[in-house]
Amino acid sequence: MIDSMKLSQLISADDIQTKVCALGEDIGKKFDGKELLVVGILKGSFMFYSDLIRAIDMDIYCDFMGASSYAGMKSSGECQLTLDCRTPLKGKHVLLVEDIVDTGLTMNFLKHHVRQRGPASLSTASLLLKPEALKEECDVDFVGFEIANDFVVGYGLDYQGYYRNLPYIAQVQNMN
Ligand code: 5GP
Repeated sequence: MIDSMKLSQLISADDIQTKVCALGEDIGKKFDGKELLVVGILKGSFMFYSDLIRAIDMDIYCDFMGASSYAGMKSSGECQLTLDCRTPLKGKHVLLVEDIVDTGLTMNFLKHHVRQRGPASLSTASLLLKPEALKEECDVDFVGFEIANDFVVGYGLDYQGYYRNLPYIAQVQNMN
């Protein structure tokens, strides 16, 4: 059990839901009439992903990939694929869904991996983006919120496996 962290709410559950609905509408408009494969990046995006796909009013196909680059509260600088998507990507319109883009390494790693499989198009969505933390250029097509370079938890994002179930995004204030 983790008991030494102080959390302060950064983005409320209501604000998240409003933003997710708006993103879902934008995505629906962009891919209107096309077949879209929406790939959630596990584990952190699972909550955003499940709300987002319900806000996209069109037929979509769902699959998942897993990636890991974080150790505790810092990026290790190395990204690993922990789960590969089983759906053939060739000729598909693919939307990658991340929880947060921090250094940009994970998103770029996954974009490279997907591009090698010849999708018809590749787009990206992330609930959160930390512009000040980017270590390489990383274009994200659909961004929920830009936040400061602080460690956050909740709404799918964890610290050592905890806090994913918070319905809001919280900033970590203190560590003993
Ligand atoms: P990047 O490769 O862009 O540095 O990091 C992407 C991954 O690192 C995210 O998918 C997420 O798992 C993790 N990450 C980055 N920043 C945070 C953060 O503030 N809080 C949490 N819980 N995870 C983060």
